[in-house]
Amino acid sequence: MQRCGVCGQTSRQPVFRPIPPEQAPDLDLRPGEALRGTMDRWLQQCPHCGYAAPDIAKAHPGAVAAVRAAPFRALILDDSHPPLARRFLAWAHVLEETGALAASAEATLQAAWVADDLGRADLARLWRLEAVALWRCGPPLDHEQEVRVVDALRRAGAWSDAEATADQLARSDPPEAVAEVIVLERRLIAAQDSGRHTIASALPPPSRRPHVAHRGHPAGEGFWAWFKGLFGRH
Ligand SMILES: [Zn+2]
Repeated sequence: MQRCGVCGQTSRQPVFRPIPPEQAPDLDLRPGEALRGTMDRWLQQCPHCGYAAPDIAKAHPGAVAAVRAAPFRALILDDSHPPLARRFLAWAHVLEETGALAASAEATLQAAWVADDLGRADLARLWRLEAVALWRCGPPLDHEQEVRVVDALRRAGAWSDAEATADQLARSDPPEAVAEVIVLERRLIAAQDSGRHTIASALPPPSRRPHVAHRGHPAGEGFWAWFKGLFGRH
């Protein structure tokens, strides 16, 4: 049983232990299978107060106030949104209220992934644009994160913003692995292709390019550490 860090009541909660995905991630770093299909276990949600987090036993002091406020109640009770997406939005709201804007963007993007799976293109677009707005309000992004902003804009069909952001990123001397993803993004943007594509379609296999260090790129060894970090920081 888990005791909620906001309301103090207990509930039975799944424990999520991420396993490294076997397939390449999407360009926005949504993990490949089998991890991809486990989103219903990424967050716990208290059935009493609605607080949602990777571990609901932990709550930032600001989270308690955020969960008790009217906007949070409205958000978790909005049945026009799919329940699993609302769980990610609830976590995103708490993160935003406590000033963790980059993490809030991440959780909002995850709500968009839920919408993708349910065929709700309208909500996926809305939440991708919200994620971009949060990223842009937060601390400066590194090249690896900035390319995800480009991808969110492309998937949302925000063509001119996607193109301008990709152009700016291409001029900023990104690492080679990022530059290769930008080449693909620019081609997809020019074709107004808002579909899902994987990192594997942008990067040749490492065995064919031994001179390039994949270490540090989110698609390489760094990906797994980055992903696990999403669930360990709070
Ligand atoms: Zn609670």
